[in-house]
Amino acid sequence: MMQAMKNDAWFQDAGTQSGRWELDEIIYRSPDGGLLEVAHDLDALKQRSAASWMNLWDKRYKRTMWPYGSGVWGKKELVLPNIPDEDVVSLDEGGTNLFWAERYGKSIGIPDLWVKQCGVSHTGSFKDLGMTVLVSQVNHMIKSGKQDIMGVACASTGDTSAALAAYCAAAGITSVVLIPRGKISPGQLIQPMANNSLTLALDTDFDGCMNLVQELTVDKKLYLANSMNSLRVEGQKTIATEIVQQFDWAIPDWIFIPGGNLGNVSALYKGFEEIKELGIISRIPKIVCCQAQLANPLYTCYKNNWENFESITAGNTQASAIRIGDPVSRSKAIRYLMRHGGMVEEASEQELAEASTLADRTGLFNCPHTGVALAGLKKFADRGDISANDRVVVISTAHGLKFTDSKLNYHLGNIEGVQSKHCNKFVELPSKRDAVYDAVMRHMDDQLS
Ligand SMILES: *Cc1c(COP(=O)(O)O)cnc(C)c1O
Repeated sequence: MMQAMKNDAWFQDAGTQSGRWELDEIIYRSPDGGLLEVAHDLDALKQRSAASWMNLWDKRYKRTMWPYGSGVWGKKELVLPNIPDEDVVSLDEGGTNLFWAERYGKSIGIPDLWVKQCGVSHTGSFKDLGMTVLVSQVNHMIKSGKQDIMGVACASTGDTSAALAAYCAAAGITSVVLIPRGKISPGQLIQPMANNSLTLALDTDFDGCMNLVQELTVDKKLYLANSMNSLRVEGQKTIATEIVQQFDWAIPDWIFIPGGNLGNVSALYKGFEEIKELGIISRIPKIVCCQAQLANPLYTCYKNNWENFESITAGNTQASAIRIGDPVSRSKAIRYLMRHGGMVEEASEQELAEASTLADRTGLFNCPHTGVALAGLKKFADRGDISANDRVVVISTAHGLKFTDSKLNYHLGNIEGVQSKHCNKFVELPSKRDAVYDAVMRHMDDQLS
């Protein structure tokens, strides 16, 4: 067993970094209404050298000693240091492929381009990274008798509900999901149904579901699983360490990440800040948060020099998981972005579909949200903001297979207002040798020209 370290973690106010509440308490906001964050005793963690941390994390990475082979739990001392291993609910999250997007990168003048495939995961999105932490803590509070929790609930644009349902089902905990009716993909809808979650389809949008779930979880028997619950951020932040680890501890220059509720971009910054404090990295990459133009309140605020954040009603974007007009983690995200000179970009429906499709043609299979980040990157590249030697990482947030309907509609030319310039329709033919042979030959000739 790993030597137990004497370090601790607790909730504090994310804005003032003051106050202290135990992780075994049910609390989502500080008394003045701000979001919380999990604080770690970094001085205790610093008693181990940076080299020793890197060595420990490399030794565990994707190995077999449960739960430390998980990309999240391999960093347990920096996630939930005090939870007993037997209370952890892990489905082997993290450790996802860092895809060298060489062909696509070269096509936009950035040969050192990598796509972090966070969607190649148990439920097909990065939400697994945070949910393993939250459900483990709930499991621990229930098993230890510290809290009388009867179920866990979330509002979702599809991926949070899928992750919550799976982790709760694995642990035998009741789950409840609130989703905006008709606004999530069929692939996402079936996930909580299959995992036996109470699946509530409501006639509102995500922001409406988010307000409702906050009202419901005032009753502490129902625990809140959205990313305003800062336990989720603790798992999601391991993306930062894992990327650097996958480059043998070299720091990339840029990271492009799609943003909706803005928990994930906050998590990425928190992860980098902490490993910088531990001496594992010497600088934090430039981070660009990318939004769909139809759901762009952060972008508007950024363009307005970070003054006067205004919520909007988000429109019907292909990037349905970031169709959010009133992001709950905006203050956190803005604080991090301002502190580190982070940037925000936006992508139209045409731009996100095109970027996703062109990257698919080089071996990826992108979800529309990854398309938003890829389109943001393309704009930076076209403007000459990125030098040809820079190492760039795009965070891919979900598996493309969850979004086959919108991808299929692109290739069939069925998305209103979007021109399917790079579609690849299937070809219907009689099952006759000559017809098929001619089609194949014509195709190969076309490829040459
Ligand atoms: C949740 C989600 C996002 C956005 O993450 P936030 O933390 O809400 O900003 C992006 N892409 C996908 C696929 C998601 O499920």
